[in-house]
Amino acid sequence: MTDKSAAELIAVTKSYGQAIAVDGVSLRIPGNSYTCLLGPSGCGKSSTLRMIAGHESVSKGDILLGDKNITDLPPAGRGTAMMFQNYALFPHLSVADNVAFSLKMKGVEKQARLSEAMKLLELVDMAGFASRLPTQLSGGQQQRVALARALITNPSILLLDEPLSALDPFLRLRMRSELKRLQRELGISFIHVTHSQDEALSLADQIIVMNKGRIEQVGSAQDVFNKPQTQFVAQFMGGHNVMSDGHSHLAIRSDKIKVVRTKPEGGTGIQAVVREIEYLGTTFSVALNSAGNAASPHPISVTIPDTLFSQEPLEIGQTVFLDWRPDDAHRLAS
Ligand code: ADP
Ligand code: MG
Repeated sequence: MTDKSAAELIAVTKSYGQAIAVDGVSLRIPGNSYTCLLGPSGCGKSSTLRMIAGHESVSKGDILLGDKNITDLPPAGRGTAMMFQNYALFPHLSVADNVAFSLKMKGVEKQARLSEAMKLLELVDMAGFASRLPTQLSGGQQQRVALARALITNPSILLLDEPLSALDPFLRLRMRSELKRLQRELGISFIHVTHSQDEALSLADQIIVMNKGRIEQVGSAQDVFNKPQTQFVAQFMGGHNVMSDGHSHLAIRSDKIKVVRTKPEGGTGIQAVVREIEYLGTTFSVALNSAGNAASPHPISVTIPDTLFSQEPLEIGQTVFLDWRPDDAHRLAS
């Protein structure tokens, strides 16, 4: 028996005319999981999500949800629900009527649908706002209402397209933990599209990194961050340096590189010159140019805890050596 909130995409392609936005993507969404689709703007995240929701037709391939092939079903018949970036609340309807809207469409009578709407408003901590109009709510509150409205259909999968991008940084962090809590409480799967690495790392059980319509890597947050398989993932996730080693490439985390004053015995001992120093609060970020036959064509970035940096501050223009444990250098497949 397949979990009803487990989904699978099988070689799914989306073309808009000649342009291929999603190129033969296959992936599995485990039941009761939080998945983030992560990638730069234009890589095909929203197209993928909209095909799962049924708001966009599938050019090729299949989408399964639970035991069902939902590829050609209408949005309302799939067991999915979508929360849009701009919330799309009806301005002339009260909060309660907004949330109850899809039940009204299904012909559920008024008392029953309003009592269901209240349950969902309680879930998102908005029960006290039931009779307000959307314009009388803050952005964060509107978003909670939009969430309640999506969840009232009792979906197996909730689809969220950049749900936090319209919020200020403080609210974004708060809603982030709220979303995770909701997913756990409801026991359904969430698929959350984002271009923010932090957001994906903090939320996801599974991160799917996309680039140019294809999947670059799938894994847990820690896997994708610590063991990037490609240059793209290492660079996109940040916090890594990509260096060439003959014909292949190595990724090394910025906080795993040691800056030393004298050439280390054995070790790697790349000579480098300090180019920039940035104070980031708990750490200093130091950019260096490798000297001589450069292992890295880009500046090398090293993160140093502030207490360590303060013991022996570096200066711009200073010549130093870079060292790391061989175990911390991670070979990339491409
Ligand atoms: P993302 O959400 O990752 O930013 P999208 O899925 O929105 O990416 O877009 C992927 C590619 O498909 C982009 O090149 C975009 O311009 C193109 N695209 C998206 N929607 C349409 C559309 N309705 N018609 C034509 N091209 C589109
Ligand atoms: Mg998008």
